[in-house]
Amino acid sequence: MNLKLPIYLDNAATTAVDPRVAEKMLPYLSEHYGNPASGTHGFGRTAARAVDEARGEVATLLNADAGEIVWTSGATESNNLAIKGAALANQARGRHLVTLKTEHKAVLDTMKVLETQGCTVTYLAPGADGLIDLDTFRAALRPDTILGSVMLVNNEIGVIQDVAALGAACRERGILFHVDAAQATGKVPIDMARLPVDLMSLTAHKTYGPKGIGALYARSAPHVRLEAQMHGGGHERGLRSGTLPTHQIVGLGECFRIAGEEMPLEVPRIRALRDRLWNRLRDLPGIVVNGSMERRIANNLNVSLRLERGDTLMAALTDIAVSSTAACDSSGVSHVLQALGNDADAARNSLRITVGRFNTEEEIDYAAHYLRRRIEDCRAGRLRNLSDLVPTNS
Ligand SMILES: *Cc1c(COP(=O)(O)O)cnc(C)c1O
Repeated sequence: MNLKLPIYLDNAATTAVDPRVAEKMLPYLSEHYGNPASGTHGFGRTAARAVDEARGEVATLLNADAGEIVWTSGATESNNLAIKGAALANQARGRHLVTLKTEHKAVLDTMKVLETQGCTVTYLAPGADGLIDLDTFRAALRPDTILGSVMLVNNEIGVIQDVAALGAACRERGILFHVDAAQATGKVPIDMARLPVDLMSLTAHKTYGPKGIGALYARSAPHVRLEAQMHGGGHERGLRSGTLPTHQIVGLGECFRIAGEEMPLEVPRIRALRDRLWNRLRDLPGIVVNGSMERRIANNLNVSLRLERGDTLMAALTDIAVSSTAACDSSGVSHVLQALGNDADAARNSLRITVGRFNTEEEIDYAAHYLRRRIEDCRAGRLRNLSDLVPTNS
């Protein structure tokens, strides 16, 4: 067997940079290093052209206009700019926001900050399948609501929210609608010409691009008013100052170009791998899938195992890189699984396995066999001592 271990199955946390993306980025580090804002010479103009091209690629993937794309450092910053920026720009109209309990911490923690500044936030619980009910969402909208924020794809359980319907409910009432789409690009089609969405957060590193670069889509018609959160220099139409990182932007453009081009073939291939894995695990006693299996992206499997000592299992999984949703939350328990009505124990004993572009059938077969063996070991109490070997750096 010439498998390279450990096998990376944590593509929801981050992905490898596609070699084609890395190759396209390289010349912009030591050759075309001009400042895209330097219009007086060729160095600057070459960089500016690359930035323009990348802006076009990002816009193309969303079926949006290039002028609606604002570069940021990633989806965390985009969420901050969208939510704080909209709240500040619209505070004369109202100070109420609506979101879900299952959002990423970059949304939830931003909302918490706004609460300390006089805003009121409603945190809605989705159903047991992870999906928010439209009537529940609608009922939470008030005359003083200025923004709804719902993620397109959940990062833990991979469920796809009906942002078209939720956005329409907001638009009927003149409420802005923001979507965190960090996990969606290259996995579900996004058409901003049809979606009633005003703001959308994007990032490169979940879609085979580099870390530290992202974008915020901000609709131009009807124009979305935002207050900048970063000042100095007035880059990006004053919405986000800071010298543009040309190589990073080129990387984002290229990974989104590839995503758009390859999605029709890649999604079914990855779904087949995910289903292959699930079919090899589904008869394990007590195993349950978290979240809707139907309205779910192709690469995500999130299961609860009802193990007595689930922590020993995680520690023993040395041949595969997966995530216990526990690792994402400082509390040690997944806030997403708890919001779905799971008790802390089930929320703790969960595994998120996310397949990616570079995984092979052989890797999936190995991972399935390996996981089964380790889970059986865990059940039989054979892993108990292993946890003692793992350093407990909190
Ligand atoms: C990864 C992720 C983020 C954070 O994105 P960064 O680019 O790492 O800042 C935000 N929201 C969701 C849903 C994510 O999966």
